[in-house]
Amino acid sequence: MRERIRSVIRAVPDYPKPGIVFRDITPLLADGDAFAEAINSFVERYRNAGLTKIVGIEARGFIFGTALAYALGIGFVPLRKPGKLPAKTLQQRYSLEYGEDALEIHTDALGAHDHVLIIDDLLATGGTVLAAVDLVKQTGASLQECAFVISLDQLPGVDRLQQAAIPYYTLCRF
Ligand code: IMP
Repeated sequence: MRERIRSVIRAVPDYPKPGIVFRDITPLLADGDAFAEAINSFVERYRNAGLTKIVGIEARGFIFGTALAYALGIGFVPLRKPGKLPAKTLQQRYSLEYGEDALEIHTDALGAHDHVLIIDDLLATGGTVLAAVDLVKQTGASLQECAFVISLDQLPGVDRLQQAAIPYYTLCRF
């Protein structure tokens, strides 16, 4: 467990609504040593994984994903909320507690020759990352695993990934 990183993640009670404890990564981003430790931990793990692209989930997955892609010397592919990507896209819908959302990827962003890591800041119910995995599969690319800075182990995401046999890695657990 990465105690330095864990110690700079702020718990914000009752955000975005009463009863929810939001895990805020902005103090981690503001701490240069902790941010470097987070990125370096990922670099160590994935340096020899044969990755061709990092796939980041909007929006906080972009922060860690682009830094990691740069450090590994490979490209970055954004998964965005509907209507944000300008060229032709594939879309995957997923359920939220109330309602639905979706992620999109450019159809030409990845292909069968790609081997990718999906990255986001946090795993909660797993709905977002499972949609990301579906999108990557639709492109024909292969998946190394899914990486997070934080996983919330009381929520179903960890079990849902295990049940779907999708490997994942996390720097801190709450
Ligand atoms: P899931 O789809 O329920 O696993 O939620 C994960 C997504 O919601 C990620 O893209 C996170 O950025 C965001 N998210 C959910 N809860 C939190 C939180 O406590 N802190 C930061 N992001 C969160």
